[in-house]
Amino acid sequence: MKATVSIGRSPENDVVINQPDISSHHATITTLEDNEFMVEDLDSSNGVYVNGYRIKSSKVSLADQVRLSANHIIDLEVIFGLKEGSVLQIPEEQNKKPNDKDFTDEFLHLEKVYNDYRKDKNRIVQGNQRKQVIIRMGFMALPLAIQAVTKEIALSGSTILLGGLAQLIPGGNKHLDKLEELNDNFMVRFVCPNKSCNQILSGRSWAVWHNTGECPKCKAIFNKNKL
Ligand SMILES: [Zn+2]
Repeated sequence: MKATVSIGRSPENDVVINQPDISSHHATITTLEDNEFMVEDLDSSNGVYVNGYRIKSSKVSLADQVRLSANHIIDLEVIFGLKEGSVLQIPEEQNKKPNDKDFTDEFLHLEKVYNDYRKDKNRIVQGNQRKQVIIRMGFMALPLAIQAVTKEIALSGSTILLGGLAQLIPGGNKHLDKLEELNDNFMVRFVCPNKSCNQILSGRSWAVWHNTGECPKCKAIFNKNKL
């Protein structure tokens, strides 16, 4: 049994995996002790993953899952001659029957819908807050303006000021219209990705739905952990 096993696409490796996403010299695995190994990525293009996390080098045991690139799971027991069989394990996803409740990929697209909505909403609300400040400043200036000038001029002055304010206030309604339109649009788009369900999901954030993991109505699955 070799202490260090090299893995890659090139024929000079101890374990040859002839796949386009495997680098010619992809990784090495070194035995440290019984059931303890050091996995090292040899600057491969598509990486080495231990239990789903990309690593540069990592200590692993036989209980850990070591994967090269997207879906080549290697069997350490076979590599080190502890077991007969194929070096490559069949990924679990390929073993599973297609799940007709799996809407996890479709649900991921809703994150952008949600984030865009939040951004647009903030822009409208902040734009309105600026307008409100201008209106408040207008009202504060009013008594000062009255004190500063004679009665007649004050009357005409406040008329001008009030006229100006009246022009600003309809702007407040416009911002409500914009918000309403945005909310309507969001309610139509932020729905269960199962087309035969279309349950409205607004009212909770994308992250909360992702955490909840499923549609309350049709039980479509939103989170890979729930598969
Ligand atoms: Zn649904």
